[in-house]
Amino acid sequence: SHLLEVRDVRKVYGEGEGATHALCNVNLTVDDGEFVAIMGPSGSGKSTLLSTLGGLQSPTSGKVLADSLDIYGLTTDGRSDFRREYLGFVFQSFHLVNYLSVLENVMLSLAVSALSKGEKRARAHETLARVGLADKAEKLPEMLSGGEQERVAIARAIVNEPPILLADEPTGNLDSVNTGAVLALLAELNATGQTVVMVTHSHRAAQAASRTITMADGCVVG
Ligand code: ADP
Ligand code: ADP
Repeated sequence: SHLLEVRDVRKVYGEGEGATHALCNVNLTVDDGEFVAIMGPSGSGKSTLLSTLGGLQSPTSGKVLADSLDIYGLTTDGRSDFRREYLGFVFQSFHLVNYLSVLENVMLSLAVSALSKGEKRARAHETLARVGLADKAEKLPEMLSGGEQERVAIARAIVNEPPILLADEPTGNLDSVNTGAVLALLAELNATGQTVVMVTHSHRAAQAASRTITMADGCVVG
């Protein structure tokens, strides 16, 4: 079975004449170890597809299967548990908590885990080392560059070791140097087994991926 499978998914926002057809019968699979980039112009349905894949927004019709599990057949709580165990999310605005240290921000993702406080700290430290920020653990997020903050957000997303990392425009707010660092990190995580699905409209970002899906007007066109 596939890590993720989108089967005949349509998404319509609103009703009647004002309705927006955001996704038209989309089919897509993501397998273990892939790094998939979703590209396309603004308004083509990329974010809608990512949030549908991420169990955040139910499709108007069609299914999303994760390892054969129909995620929109789950209760709201069941889907919330599924997201926590199965997915890591990274966004272009980092959503870091500005009064917590970098380490504490990463530990937030472990809040409901059964690990002891000491194990959580150790796990968060290891993950910060993986993203190249071992020396920033005690800093506040505002003391870091944009690229470093994005790497903290990536650490927070992967500290639970989710099978899939979903990233929405992870380099959208970054300058060229920081973009390079974030893309190199995503490629390195993928090389060590992390499955990644990334929305981007940057061709440079898409080059880091092993497969690119192109969307236009809500449909997969390539
Ligand atoms: P992209 O991420 O490629 O820019 P989106 O998925 O954000 O595309 O949007 C696809 C279409 O759906 C656009 O026409 C957008 O205006 C519309 N849309 C997105 N979110 C909503 C919403 N919550 N309500 C109504 N229309 C929406
Ligand atoms: P809880 O029920 O424990 O508060 P949530 O359902 O809020 O859990 O979140 C479960 C997972 O889904 C978390 O990893 C969280 O980051 C992610 N998540 C929830 N809502 C959103 C959202 N609107 N945008 C992005 N990620 C979200």
